[in-house]
Amino acid sequence: MLVYADNAATTQMSRKALDVLFETSETVWGNPSSLHSVGQKAKEILEDARLRIAKAIGAEPKEIYFTSGGSEADNQALISAATFGARKGKKHIISTRFEHHAVLHTLQKLEKQGFEVEYLDVHRNGLVTADQVREAIRPDTALVSVMYANNEIGTVQPIREIGAVCRAAKVPFHSDAVQAIGHIPVDVVRDNIDLLALSAHKFHGPKGIGVLYARKGTLLVNVIEGGAQERGKRAGTENIPAIASMAAALEESLQNLEANRDRIIPMRDRLIEGLSKIPHSCLNGDRSSRVPGTVNFCFEGIEGESLLLLLDAQGIEASSGSACTSGSLDPSHVLLALGLPHDVAHGSLRLSIGEYNTPEEIDHILTVVPQVVEYLRNMSPVWEDLENGKRPHIL
Ligand SMILES: *Cc1c(COP(=O)(O)O)cnc(C)c1O
Repeated sequence: MLVYADNAATTQMSRKALDVLFETSETVWGNPSSLHSVGQKAKEILEDARLRIAKAIGAEPKEIYFTSGGSEADNQALISAATFGARKGKKHIISTRFEHHAVLHTLQKLEKQGFEVEYLDVHRNGLVTADQVREAIRPDTALVSVMYANNEIGTVQPIREIGAVCRAAKVPFHSDAVQAIGHIPVDVVRDNIDLLALSAHKFHGPKGIGVLYARKGTLLVNVIEGGAQERGKRAGTENIPAIASMAAALEESLQNLEANRDRIIPMRDRLIEGLSKIPHSCLNGDRSSRVPGTVNFCFEGIEGESLLLLLDAQGIEASSGSACTSGSLDPSHVLLALGLPHDVAHGSLRLSIGEYNTPEEIDHILTVVPQVVEYLRNMSPVWEDLENGKRPHIL
Protein backbone atom coordinates (compact mmCIF):
# COMPACT_ATOMS: atom_id res chain seq x y z
CA MET A 1 0.00 0.00 0.00
CA LEU A 2 1.31 3.44 -0.91
CA VAL A 3 0.01 6.22 1.33
CA TYR A 4 0.70 9.82 0.38
CA ALA A 5 0.41 11.79 3.61
CA ASP A 6 2.41 14.89 2.69
CA ASN A 7 -0.31 17.18 1.33
CA ALA A 8 1.09 20.20 3.19
CA ALA A 9 4.21 19.90 1.00
CA THR A 10 2.21 19.62 -2.19
CA THR A 11 -0.95 17.97 -3.47
CA GLN A 12 -1.66 15.78 -6.44
CA MET A 13 -3.43 17.73 -9.20
CA SER A 14 -7.13 16.98 -9.52
CA ARG A 15 -8.48 15.43 -12.72
CA LYS A 16 -10.35 18.67 -13.41
CA ALA A 17 -7.25 20.87 -12.87
CA LEU A 18 -5.22 18.61 -15.18
CA ASP A 19 -7.88 18.70 -17.90
CA VAL A 20 -8.10 22.50 -17.77
CA LEU A 21 -4.29 22.81 -17.79
CA PHE A 22 -4.00 20.60 -20.85
CA GLU A 23 -6.98 21.97 -22.77
CA THR A 24 -6.01 25.58 -22.13
CA SER A 25 -2.42 24.91 -23.21
CA GLU A 26 -3.70 23.40 -26.41
CA THR A 27 -6.39 25.88 -27.34
CA VAL A 28 -5.58 29.18 -25.59
CA TRP A 29 -1.90 29.63 -26.33
CA GLY A 30 -2.00 33.32 -27.20
CA ASN A 31 -0.30 36.14 -25.33
CA PRO A 32 -2.96 38.15 -23.48
CA SER A 33 -1.05 41.36 -24.25
CA SER A 34 -1.52 40.82 -28.01
CA LEU A 35 -4.28 42.78 -29.70
CA HIS A 36 -5.25 40.08 -32.22
CA SER A 37 -7.92 37.55 -31.54
CA VAL A 38 -5.65 34.70 -30.37
CA GLY A 39 -4.27 37.09 -27.75
CA GLN A 40 -7.66 38.44 -26.83
CA LYS A 41 -8.97 34.92 -26.27
CA ALA A 42 -6.15 34.42 -23.74
CA LYS A 43 -7.00 37.78 -22.16
CA GLU A 44 -10.59 36.62 -21.70
CA ILE A 45 -9.49 33.44 -19.95
CA LEU A 46 -7.14 35.46 -17.75
CA GLU A 47 -9.82 37.92 -16.66
CA ASP A 48 -12.37 35.14 -16.16
CA ALA A 49 -9.94 33.33 -13.85
CA ARG A 50 -9.22 36.57 -11.98
CA LEU A 51 -12.94 37.11 -11.42
CA ARG A 52 -13.52 33.57 -10.16
CA ILE A 53 -10.51 33.61 -7.83
CA ALA A 54 -11.53 37.01 -6.47
CA LYS A 55 -15.01 35.70 -5.77
CA ALA A 56 -13.60 32.63 -4.01
CA ILE A 57 -11.85 34.76 -1.37
CA GLY A 58 -14.33 37.64 -1.14
CA ALA A 59 -12.15 40.05 -3.13
CA GLU A 60 -12.62 42.17 -6.23
CA PRO A 61 -10.94 41.19 -9.51
CA LYS A 62 -8.68 44.25 -9.53
CA GLU A 63 -7.31 43.21 -6.15
CA ILE A 64 -5.90 39.94 -7.59
CA TYR A 65 -2.31 39.75 -8.93
CA PHE A 66 -1.02 36.51 -10.42
CA THR A 67 2.44 35.44 -9.24
CA SER A 68 4.72 32.42 -9.59
CA GLY A 69 3.40 31.02 -6.32
CA GLY A 70 3.06 31.58 -2.60
CA SER A 71 6.69 32.52 -2.06
CA GLU A 72 6.67 35.34 -4.60
CA ALA A 73 3.35 36.65 -3.27
CA ASP A 74 4.73 36.71 0.28
CA ASN A 75 7.91 38.47 -0.88
CA GLN A 76 6.02 41.14 -2.79
CA ALA A 77 3.51 41.74 0.01
CA LEU A 78 6.16 42.25 2.68
CA ILE A 79 8.54 44.29 0.55
CA SER A 80 5.68 46.52 -0.60
CA ALA A 81 4.33 47.24 2.86
CA ALA A 82 7.84 47.83 4.19
CA THR A 83 8.76 50.18 1.33
CA PHE A 84 5.64 52.34 1.67
CA GLY A 85 5.83 52.24 5.45
CA ALA A 86 9.43 53.50 5.34
CA ARG A 87 8.35 56.44 3.17
CA LYS A 88 6.19 57.56 6.09
CA GLY A 89 9.01 56.95 8.55
CA LYS A 90 7.56 53.63 9.74
CA LYS A 91 10.17 50.89 9.99
CA HIS A 92 8.72 48.54 12.60
CA ILE A 93 7.29 45.19 11.47
CA ILE A 94 5.41 42.63 13.56
CA SER A 95 5.37 38.95 12.66
CA THR A 96 5.69 35.58 14.42
CA ARG A 97 8.43 33.06 15.06
CA PHE A 98 6.78 30.27 13.14
CA GLU A 99 6.13 31.78 9.71
CA HIS A 100 7.05 30.00 6.50
CA HIS A 101 10.58 30.73 5.26
CA ALA A 102 9.11 32.76 2.37
CA VAL A 103 8.11 35.27 5.06
CA LEU A 104 10.94 34.79 7.56
CA HIS A 105 13.75 35.09 5.02
CA THR A 106 12.16 38.18 3.45
CA LEU A 107 11.88 39.74 6.91
CA GLN A 108 15.54 38.94 7.60
CA LYS A 109 16.44 40.75 4.40
CA LEU A 110 14.37 43.74 5.51
CA GLU A 111 16.15 43.69 8.89
CA LYS A 112 19.47 44.03 7.04
CA GLN A 113 17.98 47.07 5.31
CA GLY A 114 17.28 48.73 8.64
CA PHE A 115 13.78 47.55 9.52
CA GLU A 116 13.08 46.42 13.08
CA VAL A 117 11.18 43.16 13.08
CA GLU A 118 9.42 41.97 16.23
CA TYR A 119 8.75 38.22 16.14
CA LEU A 120 5.84 37.35 18.40
CA ASP A 121 6.22 34.25 20.57
CA VAL A 122 3.92 31.38 19.76
CA HIS A 123 2.13 29.66 22.63
CA ARG A 124 2.77 25.98 23.26
CA ASN A 125 -0.59 25.28 21.56
CA GLY A 126 0.71 26.75 18.30
CA LEU A 127 -1.37 29.93 18.46
CA VAL A 128 -0.71 33.64 18.69
CA THR A 129 -3.40 35.99 19.98
CA ALA A 130 -4.88 39.26 18.82
CA ASP A 131 -3.85 40.72 22.20
CA GLN A 132 -0.21 39.96 21.47
CA VAL A 133 -0.54 41.88 18.21
CA ARG A 134 -2.39 44.77 19.88
CA GLU A 135 0.32 45.12 22.51
CA ALA A 136 3.10 45.05 19.93
CA ILE A 137 1.67 47.71 17.58
CA ARG A 138 3.46 51.07 17.76
CA PRO A 139 2.95 54.40 15.98
CA ASP A 140 5.81 53.43 13.63
CA THR A 141 4.52 49.95 12.77
CA ALA A 142 4.55 49.54 8.99
CA LEU A 143 3.11 46.02 8.75
CA VAL A 144 1.76 43.02 10.63
CA SER A 145 2.26 39.59 9.04
CA VAL A 146 0.69 36.49 10.62
CA MET A 147 0.12 33.26 8.74
CA TYR A 148 -3.43 31.90 8.48
CA ALA A 149 -2.59 28.24 9.06
CA ASN A 150 0.82 26.87 9.93
CA ASN A 151 2.34 24.50 7.39
CA GLU A 152 4.11 22.23 9.89
CA ILE A 153 1.59 21.82 12.69
CA GLY A 154 -1.64 22.94 11.00
CA THR A 155 -2.87 25.37 13.65
CA VAL A 156 -5.27 28.10 12.47
CA GLN A 157 -4.66 31.56 13.90
CA PRO A 158 -7.41 33.97 15.04
CA ILE A 159 -6.97 35.93 11.81
CA ARG A 160 -10.27 37.81 11.93
CA GLU A 161 -9.47 39.23 15.39
CA ILE A 162 -5.87 40.03 14.46
CA GLY A 163 -7.13 41.71 11.29
CA ALA A 164 -9.60 43.80 13.29
CA VAL A 165 -6.81 44.95 15.63
CA CYS A 166 -4.68 45.99 12.64
CA ARG A 167 -7.55 47.73 10.87
CA ALA A 168 -8.40 49.72 14.02
CA ALA A 169 -4.76 50.79 14.30
CA LYS A 170 -4.57 51.50 10.53
CA VAL A 171 -1.65 49.11 10.12
CA PRO A 172 -1.52 47.01 6.91
CA PHE A 173 -2.12 43.34 7.64
CA HIS A 174 -0.61 40.53 5.55
CA SER A 175 -1.50 36.87 5.96
CA ASP A 176 0.24 33.92 4.31
CA ALA A 177 -2.90 31.87 3.65
CA VAL A 178 -1.25 29.19 1.53
CA GLN A 179 -2.22 26.35 3.89
CA ALA A 180 -5.72 27.71 4.49
CA ILE A 181 -7.12 28.49 1.04
CA GLY A 182 -9.10 25.59 -0.36
CA HIS A 183 -9.19 23.89 3.05
CA ILE A 184 -11.07 26.27 5.35
CA PRO A 185 -13.27 29.27 4.48
CA VAL A 186 -11.28 32.47 3.98
CA ASP A 187 -12.85 35.85 3.25
CA VAL A 188 -10.55 38.83 2.97
CA VAL A 189 -13.30 41.31 3.90
CA ARG A 190 -14.60 39.39 6.94
CA ASP A 191 -11.00 38.74 8.03
CA ASN A 192 -9.81 42.36 7.61
CA ILE A 193 -6.89 41.30 5.43
CA ASP A 194 -4.98 43.84 3.29
CA LEU A 195 -2.43 41.49 1.70
CA LEU A 196 -2.70 37.74 1.26
CA ALA A 197 -0.71 34.98 -0.44
CA LEU A 198 -2.13 31.78 -1.89
CA SER A 199 -0.63 28.96 -3.94
CA ALA A 200 -2.40 26.57 -6.35
CA HIS A 201 -0.34 23.45 -5.66
CA LYS A 202 -1.59 23.26 -2.08
CA PHE A 203 -5.18 22.73 -3.29
CA HIS A 204 -4.72 20.25 -6.16
CA GLY A 205 -3.76 22.88 -8.72
CA PRO A 206 -0.49 23.20 -10.64
CA LYS A 207 2.87 24.22 -9.15
CA GLY A 208 4.47 27.55 -9.97
CA ILE A 209 1.32 29.65 -9.87
CA GLY A 210 -0.23 31.69 -7.06
CA VAL A 211 -1.93 34.92 -6.17
CA LEU A 212 -1.14 38.06 -4.27
CA TYR A 213 -4.32 39.72 -3.05
CA ALA A 214 -3.83 43.42 -2.33
CA ARG A 215 -6.81 45.35 -1.02
CA LYS A 216 -7.87 48.45 -2.96
CA GLY A 217 -5.55 51.30 -2.08
CA THR A 218 -2.77 49.01 -0.85
CA LEU A 219 0.30 50.06 -2.82
CA LEU A 220 2.63 47.50 -4.36
CA VAL A 221 6.24 47.60 -5.52
CA ASN A 222 7.48 45.24 -8.22
CA VAL A 223 9.74 42.35 -7.39
CA ILE A 224 9.83 41.31 -11.07
CA GLU A 225 10.51 44.17 -13.48
CA GLY A 226 9.62 44.16 -17.15
CA GLY A 227 6.40 44.54 -19.10
CA ALA A 228 3.21 46.12 -17.84
CA GLN A 229 1.35 42.90 -17.02
CA GLU A 230 -0.83 42.71 -13.91
CA ARG A 231 -1.54 46.43 -14.01
CA GLY A 232 2.20 47.14 -14.03
CA LYS A 233 2.83 45.34 -10.74
CA ARG A 234 4.14 41.98 -11.93
CA ALA A 235 5.98 41.64 -15.21
CA GLY A 236 6.11 38.50 -17.32
CA THR A 237 3.76 36.85 -19.81
CA GLU A 238 0.93 35.34 -17.80
CA ASN A 239 0.83 31.56 -17.47
CA ILE A 240 -2.73 31.30 -18.78
CA PRO A 241 -3.06 27.48 -18.61
CA ALA A 242 -1.83 27.40 -15.00
CA ILE A 243 -4.01 30.37 -14.05
CA ALA A 244 -7.13 28.77 -15.55
CA SER A 245 -6.26 25.46 -13.89
CA MET A 246 -5.76 27.20 -10.53
CA ALA A 247 -9.19 28.85 -10.81
CA ALA A 248 -10.78 25.47 -11.56
CA ALA A 249 -8.94 23.78 -8.67
CA LEU A 250 -9.95 26.51 -6.25
CA GLU A 251 -13.61 26.39 -7.24
CA GLU A 252 -13.57 22.62 -6.95
CA SER A 253 -11.98 22.78 -3.48
CA LEU A 254 -14.54 25.31 -2.31
CA GLN A 255 -17.50 23.40 -3.74
CA ASN A 256 -16.30 20.31 -1.87
CA LEU A 257 -15.02 22.15 1.21
CA GLU A 258 -17.63 20.86 3.63
CA ALA A 259 -17.81 17.35 2.20
CA ASN A 260 -14.02 17.12 2.31
CA ARG A 261 -13.90 18.44 5.84
CA ASP A 262 -16.47 15.86 6.95
CA ARG A 263 -14.39 13.15 5.33
CA ILE A 264 -10.93 14.27 6.40
CA ILE A 265 -11.53 15.34 10.02
CA PRO A 266 -12.63 11.89 11.25
CA MET A 267 -9.54 10.34 9.64
CA ARG A 268 -7.32 13.00 11.17
CA ASP A 269 -8.91 12.52 14.57
CA ARG A 270 -8.31 8.80 14.33
CA LEU A 271 -4.66 9.53 13.62
CA ILE A 272 -4.47 11.80 16.65
CA GLU A 273 -6.11 9.25 18.94
CA GLY A 274 -4.07 6.34 17.64
CA LEU A 275 -0.69 8.05 17.71
CA SER A 276 -1.35 9.58 21.14
CA LYS A 277 -1.34 6.01 22.51
CA ILE A 278 2.37 5.73 21.74
CA PRO A 279 4.09 6.29 25.10
CA HIS A 280 6.10 9.50 25.49
CA SER A 281 4.61 11.20 22.44
CA CYS A 282 2.76 14.48 22.00
CA LEU A 283 0.52 16.14 19.47
CA ASN A 284 1.98 19.52 18.47
CA GLY A 285 -0.48 22.37 18.27
CA ASP A 286 -3.98 22.95 19.51
CA ARG A 287 -6.29 19.94 19.27
CA SER A 288 -9.18 21.78 17.60
CA SER A 289 -8.00 25.04 16.03
CA ARG A 290 -6.38 23.36 13.06
CA VAL A 291 -6.86 22.72 9.35
CA PRO A 292 -8.64 19.45 8.60
CA GLY A 293 -5.69 17.44 7.32
CA THR A 294 -2.47 18.22 9.20
CA VAL A 295 -1.15 16.56 12.35
CA ASN A 296 2.31 16.76 13.83
CA PHE A 297 3.67 14.52 16.56
CA CYS A 298 6.88 14.30 18.53
CA PHE A 299 8.17 10.96 19.78
CA GLU A 300 10.84 11.04 22.43
CA GLY A 301 14.08 9.17 21.89
CA ILE A 302 14.06 8.97 18.09
CA GLU A 303 15.24 10.95 15.07
CA GLY A 304 12.61 12.24 12.67
CA GLU A 305 14.80 11.48 9.66
CA SER A 306 15.21 7.78 10.49
CA LEU A 307 11.49 7.56 11.12
CA LEU A 308 10.75 9.03 7.69
CA LEU A 309 13.08 6.62 5.91
CA LEU A 310 11.57 3.58 7.58
CA LEU A 311 8.03 4.83 6.94
CA ASP A 312 8.91 5.41 3.30
CA ALA A 313 10.13 1.80 3.11
CA GLN A 314 6.66 0.78 4.35
CA GLY A 315 4.92 2.91 1.71
CA ILE A 316 4.08 5.89 3.93
CA GLU A 317 5.15 9.24 2.51
CA ALA A 318 5.29 11.83 5.26
CA SER A 319 7.53 14.64 6.42
CA SER A 320 9.29 15.81 9.54
CA GLY A 321 8.29 19.41 9.03
CA SER A 322 8.45 21.64 6.01
CA ALA A 323 10.01 20.39 2.81
CA CYS A 324 12.45 23.29 3.03
CA THR A 325 13.92 22.24 6.37
CA SER A 326 14.03 18.52 5.74
CA GLY A 327 17.55 17.58 4.80
CA SER A 328 19.01 20.06 7.26
CA LEU A 329 20.05 18.86 10.69
CA ASP A 330 18.54 21.76 12.59
CA PRO A 331 15.25 20.96 14.24
CA SER A 332 12.22 22.76 12.88
CA HIS A 333 12.01 26.47 13.76
CA VAL A 334 8.26 25.96 14.20
CA LEU A 335 8.62 23.31 16.90
CA LEU A 336 11.32 25.37 18.64
CA ALA A 337 8.96 28.36 18.53
CA LEU A 338 6.41 26.30 20.46
CA GLY A 339 9.04 25.89 23.16
CA LEU A 340 9.89 22.24 22.53
CA PRO A 341 13.44 21.30 23.55
CA HIS A 342 15.87 20.47 20.68
CA ASP A 343 15.96 16.74 21.53
CA VAL A 344 12.21 16.41 21.38
CA ALA A 345 11.82 18.62 18.30
CA HIS A 346 14.21 16.28 16.44
CA GLY A 347 11.78 13.39 16.78
CA SER A 348 8.90 14.93 14.85
CA LEU A 349 6.54 13.56 12.23
CA ARG A 350 4.09 15.54 10.09
CA LEU A 351 1.25 13.64 8.48
CA SER A 352 -0.88 15.81 6.20
CA ILE A 353 -3.81 14.00 4.65
CA GLY A 354 -6.46 15.12 2.20
CA GLU A 355 -9.61 14.03 0.42
CA TYR A 356 -7.70 11.49 -1.67
CA ASN A 357 -6.75 9.45 1.41
CA THR A 358 -8.89 6.55 2.58
CA PRO A 359 -9.76 5.12 6.00
CA GLU A 360 -7.78 1.98 5.05
CA GLU A 361 -4.70 4.14 4.58
CA ILE A 362 -5.21 5.57 8.05
CA ASP A 363 -5.35 2.00 9.40
CA HIS A 364 -2.05 1.30 7.66
CA ILE A 365 -0.43 4.39 9.20
CA LEU A 366 -1.76 3.42 12.62
CA THR A 367 -0.29 -0.07 12.30
CA VAL A 368 3.08 0.95 10.95
CA VAL A 369 4.02 4.11 12.90
CA PRO A 370 3.90 2.53 16.39
CA GLN A 371 5.97 -0.43 15.18
CA VAL A 372 8.59 1.78 13.59
CA VAL A 373 8.79 4.05 16.63
CA GLU A 374 9.32 1.03 18.88
CA TYR A 375 11.93 -0.42 16.53
CA LEU A 376 13.88 2.84 16.48
CA ARG A 377 13.63 3.29 20.22
CA ASN A 378 15.03 -0.19 20.78
CA MET A 379 18.16 0.84 18.87
CA SER A 380 18.44 4.31 20.38
CA PRO A 381 21.05 5.04 23.08
CA VAL A 382 19.03 8.13 24.01
CA TRP A 383 15.97 5.99 24.61
CA GLU A 384 18.01 3.59 26.74
CA ASP A 385 19.11 6.49 28.95
CA LEU A 386 15.51 7.67 29.22
CA GLU A 387 14.33 4.21 30.19
CA ASN A 388 17.15 3.71 32.71
CA GLY A 389 16.37 7.00 34.35
CA LYS A 390 19.74 8.49 33.31
CA ARG A 391 17.81 11.28 31.60
CA PRO A 392 14.38 12.52 32.56
CA HIS A 393 11.45 12.00 30.21
CA ILE A 394 10.07 15.30 28.95
CA LEU A 395 6.99 13.89 27.25
C1 LIG B 1 3.99 26.05 0.38
C2 LIG B 1 3.95 27.29 1.18
C3 LIG B 1 4.48 28.50 0.70
C4 LIG B 1 5.21 28.58 -0.61
O1 LIG B 1 4.36 28.46 -1.71
P1 LIG B 1 5.02 28.13 -3.14
O2 LIG B 1 3.89 28.25 -4.10
O3 LIG B 1 5.55 26.72 -3.03
O4 LIG B 1 6.08 29.14 -3.39
C5 LIG B 1 4.38 29.62 1.49
N1 LIG B 1 3.77 29.57 2.68
C6 LIG B 1 3.24 28.45 3.18
C7 LIG B 1 2.57 28.46 4.50
C8 LIG B 1 3.32 27.26 2.45
O5 LIG B 1 2.81 26.14 2.96
